This record gives sequence, C-alpha cells and structure tokens, in this order.
Amino acid sequence: MNLSRAFLNFLEILDTGTFAENFKNLIILQKSIILAYNLIMIEKIENAAKFHHLDRLDIIRILATDEFDEFLFKTADSVRKKYKGDSVHIRGIIEFSNICKQNCKYCGIRKDNPNAERYRLSPDEIILFAQHAKEKGFRTIVLQSGEDGFFSAEKMAGIIKKIKSLDMAVTLSLGEKTTGEYEVYKKAGADRYLLRIETTDKTLYGNLHPNMSFENRVRCLKDLKKLGYETGTGILVGLPGQSIESIADDILFFKNIDADMIGLGPFIPAPDTPLSKEKGGTLTQALKVMAITRLLLPDINIPATTAMETLHPQGRLMALQCGANVIMPNVTEGDYRKKYLLYPGKIAVNTSAAQNYDATVKMIESIGRKVSITKGFRRDT
Ligand code: SF4
Repeated sequence: MNLSRAFLNFLEILDTGTFAENFKNLIILQKSIILAYNLIMIEKIENAAKFHHLDRLDIIRILATDEFDEFLFKTADSVRKKYKGDSVHIRGIIEFSNICKQNCKYCGIRKDNPNAERYRLSPDEIILFAQHAKEKGFRTIVLQSGEDGFFSAEKMAGIIKKIKSLDMAVTLSLGEKTTGEYEVYKKAGADRYLLRIETTDKTLYGNLHPNMSFENRVRCLKDLKKLGYETGTGILVGLPGQSIESIADDILFFKNIDADMIGLGPFIPAPDTPLSKEKGGTLTQALKVMAITRLLLPDINIPATTAMETLHPQGRLMALQCGANVIMPNVTEGDYRKKYLLYPGKIAVNTSAAQNYDATVKMIESIGRKVSITKGFRRDT
C-alpha cells in the first residue's frame, strides 16, 4: 500500500464506524503507513545501488533506524561484487613513528600523552620491513606515522623510491603537509595518500583538533587530488558530539570530493586522552556508514578496518560482507606495533607480519573470496 492509499483509508475511517471500530482501523492505518514508508525506503536503497545517489534526508533516515540494516548490508555487498569483484586487496602497514606534533583529542599518541612510549624506525628498518612484506606476497606498503618532523620530505622521498624499486605500490598516511611536500612524495613515486577528514562538522572538528583548521585539512585533500594521488579520506563514527546529520554530510563530502578510498573506524575512547571517559561508537553504525558509502561510490576501495575488529571478533569479516574490499594487516616487526596505540584493544599486536598475512588470507578465503593479485588501484579490474 502506498502513502496516498493509506491517506484515503484514513479519511474513510474518520467518516464511518463506531469508536472501537475506528480505533482498530487506526491501528491498521498506522501499520499501513509504516509498511508504505518502509517500502519507499527499500526502493530508495535499491535505486541508490543503481544510480549511486541518496538525498541527505534519506541518508539520515537510514542511519537513524536499524529497520533497513540487513537490506542495506546485502545491497552494499552486491554493489561491491558488481564493481570490485570477489578479490580482496591486502595492503601491509608499516607504522614507522608514533611521534606526533598534534594533539587530536581522541588519539592515543597525541603529543600531550606522557604515557605513550615513543619510537621512530630508521629508514633502513622501514625498507627492510617492506622487503619482508614483499617476500610474503604484499603488493602495497602503507607508510603511516604521526606528524613527525624528523622525516623531512627528502628523507621520505628516499624511502619511497627504495620501496617503489621493489615493484610495490606505496600509500602514505603522514598527516597534513605543505603542497610542496606532497609534490616531493609524488615525484618520488608515491601512489596514494590517506588523510581522514574525521568529521565535516566544522565546530566539532575545531573542538577535537586544537591548533588545526578544517580549511587546511580540506586544502590538503584537494592538493592530493590535484597532484594525482589516489586520495583516501574517512571519519571516526560515534565521536562525542557527532550527529547523524553531520555523518550524512560526511558521506556526501566523500562523494563530492570523489574520494578514491574511504577508511571508517568506530570511535574507541583511548586512555590518557581528553575523551577517555566518553562513550564509544558502535560497529553497526560504522558498518552502516560504510555500506551507504559503497552505494554512493561503487568503485572505490574500502578497507575493513582493525578498529572494527576491536569491537567484534568478526568485525573485519562482517565489513567484507557489507561493502569492504581491502584489508590492511600490520607488517611492522618487533615490539613497535604495541606502541602505536591510537586506541586501546588494537588487534594482532603480538603476531608476526607473516602470521598476520596468513590469517588474513584464511579469513578472505573463509567467505569464498580470493586474494587480489593486482596492486589494487581504484580502476583496476
Ligand atoms: S590523529 Fe594523527 S595527527 Fe592527530 S595526534 Fe594522532 S597521530 Fe597525530
């Protein structure tokens, strides 16, 4: 029954019958309206899978209820299959420095956390870990660090060139840099850059990021796009003060800048940070944001993130079945992984890089998917 039919029924009910009969009919009417509304929303999700568009209000409606979750996840999975196939890209992360000049309030390695045990790998160590990852079968290295001034653009360029000579794709996640620095990395051969916007709510952004500016963050993302990087962004889902309206704006922002990769993590309160006592985000809400993103940007790369697995033992497996097509195991060797604690309960801090790779392959194959043999660019087939 559609809404206009339901409304006509409503007029008939008011017109005729006893109170008891009218009351019964009102209940039927209410159920009819809910059913009609649900059918409309299901149709909108189906259309989003075909035309990759959703209005802000519809995104808010989907985020505000669990009514459509099952259908949303199934539909996002079918879009992933259609555009990205069954291959899953495995990218190896090297967390090479947890020294950071910034003070993001949610982050366990923020500058003002005196309890973070700091470390910095040498360029030789970074390259050695990349070589080991290559031998194991990784095709991409993700170099991730805090905003650490020790690694000048020139130093990074040397590292990037050496990893590129191993015939691997290089993704960087080094935070906010100048246009000139991004240029130097690109010239050295870097392929991709990850820089989460975290939230597009400017007031919230300002509250969470002391001495940083939303405008500069957007400038960085625009620079990266202009320079030809595959550009990744994303948000933390469930931040204190974040509304579903602002999450809808975030998703539309991803579409608007034509992001090539989207990384989404549930907010997990980290000890020794100003947000340590706050309530965290939920896995379901993060999966919903991911699934809607897959509908709107069907061919991008979306990782199943480790933070999802921190909240649920099967978190990444679930994500792979709700739109994700990338997994990024940690290939940092030794004790360093335990010290790169952006949030507590990080998974796989005690296993070796080789064990992580094998476990990831097993996970992928357990759901009938396969490991990609390409470097996994957005428009690879
Ligand atoms: S989120 Fe990134 S930039 Fe912010 S404090 Fe943590 S490592 Fe530094």
